[in-house]
Amino acid sequence: MLTTNASISEIQRRIAAGEISLPELVEFYVRRVESQRSLNAFLDVYADEALEQARKVQGKLAAGKAGPLAGAVLAIKDNIAIKGKKLTCASHILANFVSPYDATVVQRLRTADAIVLGKTNMDEFAMGSSSENSSVAPVRNPRDPERVPGGSSGGSAAAVAANLCTAALGSDTGGSIRQPAAFCGVVGLKPTYGRVSRFGLVAFASSLDQIGPFGRTVEDVARLLNVMAGHDPMDSTSAPEPVPDFTDQLHTRPESLTIGLPVEYLSGDVQPDIVQAIETAKQAFTEAGYQVRDVHLPMTEYCIATYYIICTAEASSNLARYDGARYGHRAADVQNLEEMYRLTRSEGFGKEVKRRIMLGTYVLSAGYYDAYYRRALKVRTLIRRDFEQAFEQCDVLITPTTPSTAFRIGEKTRDPVAMYLSDIFTVSANLAGLPAISIPAGKDENDLPIGVQLLARPFDEATLLRAAAFLEAQF
Ligand code: GLN
Repeated sequence: MLTTNASISEIQRRIAAGEISLPELVEFYVRRVESQRSLNAFLDVYADEALEQARKVQGKLAAGKAGPLAGAVLAIKDNIAIKGKKLTCASHILANFVSPYDATVVQRLRTADAIVLGKTNMDEFAMGSSSENSSVAPVRNPRDPERVPGGSSGGSAAAVAANLCTAALGSDTGGSIRQPAAFCGVVGLKPTYGRVSRFGLVAFASSLDQIGPFGRTVEDVARLLNVMAGHDPMDSTSAPEPVPDFTDQLHTRPESLTIGLPVEYLSGDVQPDIVQAIETAKQAFTEAGYQVRDVHLPMTEYCIATYYIICTAEASSNLARYDGARYGHRAADVQNLEEMYRLTRSEGFGKEVKRRIMLGTYVLSAGYYDAYYRRALKVRTLIRRDFEQAFEQCDVLITPTTPSTAFRIGEKTRDPVAMYLSDIFTVSANLAGLPAISIPAGKDENDLPIGVQLLARPFDEATLLRAAAFLEAQF
């Protein structure tokens, strides 16, 4: 049976060799989810449906008619819609909300014969960096259950790391795929803004949100991206860019590659073992004959402030729709409309979500709009320019994914700013719309996973993934 963490190709090989059947694989994952309940990784498991689906796909495999993801059993973050299933965003306000339609990504993955096992836990409305803001229960890191798995897609990262599924989907507004991937020791990809349809993703900050895959290997996330990427008429922000086969030449070394090392990212407070991992990566690139050079991103110190103004502004607007009239929870025994709004929202939202709505309302309010929101938009343009200039000198940037490895549960809950600072290396990719990936890069002295982040030019996931596949083989 699957005692080791198997990738999609490994599973496909074992199924083809008759060593395991797809229904057996689904049963294996269902049992593991059961035995690992204390991780709080899943919010919902569709055991019977997954099993039924597995029998169908097994039949297609036998007939040689299966899609490219036959064998992959997926977990989906609970802010992505599946028809007829609860879509809660780990919030009280949507606790009983059932989605009337499928997200485009879910449809595409199913068409490729991937099986959906269930929904994963997260920070409420994807706001957080530790998955402690779930209204259900905090997710635990499978590498050390006393520590957080990162957030907000902590359930998806933990599920892949604990071998509860083959791969998973998350969403990334400021690092919510890459940071948990780093903390849990798996691969996590945030595609270029517009690369993957967001139809069916519950909006947090619409100019930043992207859906992306988690996997055990770079190849697995490339295979998922192949299926998920591409224009969708249902999402006006999805780009009509051509989609190459991202697995093509994934394991052949790029002939030439210039790697940029942003000096600002290593000058601050970064855990020494993480600096060492970057050093190891740099050496590997150099020894393979690639050029590694220092580059400058002078706006780096403004990224966190810019991100937290823009994301809260957009969140306050997006979350205005939860008013008790149409979606989810509605307060009982109210006297008038205003009271319905007030009580519904007071009861339905958790502390961090309320904090963001208030911050966002403040930066958008008359008198403060110019000083905060408009200024943040201007700084965002400068941040984007920093990257454009850097990419004139290199093809791929390398940075730590996080300044530290996984922190302890409860360590940062009382200090929201300390929590916000854990996103320092990830928010820039969202502000600039760039593709970025986190890959495992060894362990620290406490045996906790370290993540290294690579970034590339918009829509150049092909180069990003090839560089990542090269680096993955070095650790
Ligand atoms: N941790 C960041 C935040 O709290 C990013 C969240 C995300 O990417 N969804 O906003």
